[in-house]
Amino acid sequence: MENSTQLPERVRLNLKKYQKHRNLTCLECGYVGLMGINNSLASTIIFWSFIIFLAFFLSFIGIHFYLILMTVFFLPIFKKLFFGDKVVCPNCERHLTAK
Ligand SMILES: [Zn+2]
Repeated sequence: MENSTQLPERVRLNLKKYQKHRNLTCLECGYVGLMGINNSLASTIIFWSFIIFLAFFLSFIGIHFYLILMTVFFLPIFKKLFFGDKVVCPNCERHLTAK
């Protein structure tokens, strides 16, 4: 039986480029295993500027500030639920979104 911890050299080198990984199946090539998480900085900055704008707007219309703080605390969870992680398949190098 093939040992699942022995990855092909190319796949291992591709995985090394990423600091975070997730165990997933690639729907494009059928690869099963770790994939590199590639959440771009730009999308994170856009996301947080939108949140800060929204928090200011809500505090102007009288929403309690600590309610906003609580929302901000839970946002990383919501972000993951709605937008997922951007992952890269180390086998076919296609970019995928994993929820
Ligand atoms: Zn793939």
